[in-house]
Amino acid sequence: MYKDLISNIAIMISCLAVTGQLTRIKPMDTSIMTKIVGGIAAGLLGSLLMLFSVKIENNVIIDFRNLAVIIATLYGGLPSGLAAGALIICNRFAFFGVNPSSLTASFVIIVIILLTSYLKKSKATLFTKFLLANLCNVLLFAIAITFLVKNADLRMSLLLYYGVFSLVGGCLSAWVCDFINRSNENYRKLKVSATKDFLTGLNNVRQFDETWNNKVSSAIQTGEPLSLLVIDIDYFKLINDKYGHPDGDRILKQLGELLADAAGNTGIAARNGGEEFSIILPGMTKTGAKAVAETVRKRVQEHAFSLSGDKEINITVSVGVASYPETTNEIGQLIKQADECLYRAKNLGRNRVCAEAV
Ligand code: GH3
Ligand code: MG
Ligand code: MG
Repeated sequence: MYKDLISNIAIMISCLAVTGQLTRIKPMDTSIMTKIVGGIAAGLLGSLLMLFSVKIENNVIIDFRNLAVIIATLYGGLPSGLAAGALIICNRFAFFGVNPSSLTASFVIIVIILLTSYLKKSKATLFTKFLLANLCNVLLFAIAITFLVKNADLRMSLLLYYGVFSLVGGCLSAWVCDFINRSNENYRKLKVSATKDFLTGLNNVRQFDETWNNKVSSAIQTGEPLSLLVIDIDYFKLINDKYGHPDGDRILKQLGELLADAAGNTGIAARNGGEEFSIILPGMTKTGAKAVAETVRKRVQEHAFSLSGDKEINITVSVGVASYPETTNEIGQLIKQADECLYRAKNLGRNRVCAEAV
């Protein structure tokens, strides 16, 4: 009996580890679809636990399937709990037939789902919620066996086994879930901070390099044009000096939004550092790229950038444009050429677009 109970715990922990890997990128409560898929996974785990259940008497079995339901409901809410519960109830009927035990067990599962989804909304820590849901589970089990098991000694030992193993298994799985959840959250945060600029949310320079190399490779393979805009705020040092660094940051953030919008679905905007931005335009010719650059320049000039204390100011940007194969047929020179064009735009008086480096 102990061996079976321990294998129940082992199955549960290994399934949790696999589910943890599957929910690394998308957490279980992302959408109704992920909630239901997560619930089905928990239902399969519960059904597996049932197959490895510990048989105490003819129609009396104990296992940790209810823990799978509790975990599903705590992480994915009512939809996950109901999906898991429905699968477990159907499988219980399929494996062991319809009898008073399976009907009572199904009723207990439904009550646990409702109780746990109620607990999920509370402000208690996840561990407390796990513990309370588990205590309810053991209590419901005690009530159920009062009706199902006539032998008082068997009832007592059942309650002892189930109570101790449910609470130990529950605490252990709460710890494992919490550990997996926190590692996944850290993974997601690291992934964002490795690719996105923290201030504007645009791609950072590392992600710009990766995207750029991909676009260069596909432009070489397909022979399609590739354009690049390099955008730099005019006299930003003076703006910082006049309004302060925090207001300078506010401007960078708003400019980031404006550039993301101007880049649309095809362009890829990035903050390459300081007050320098870029937009990669795959498949775009020089004429198209110049038009996008001019739109950016105009929209920046016309936009009222809001600062602290309801102040608003206008700024301007200079834009350098380079296009493969029109402005250079050496694709490796594209960034350098766009930078030279930007330098020229600055020298010609700023607030302008330049696509000729000479
Ligand atoms: P130019 O028209 O020639 O580009 O002049 P500029 O003043 O914009 O150029 P310069 O390179 O001399 O100054 C860039 C300024 O950008 C200096 C720095 O204080 C500011 N800057 C760089 N990164 C940040 C940032 O993250 N936040 C803020 N607020 N300012 C920044
Ligand atoms: Mg500047
Ligand atoms: Mg600069």
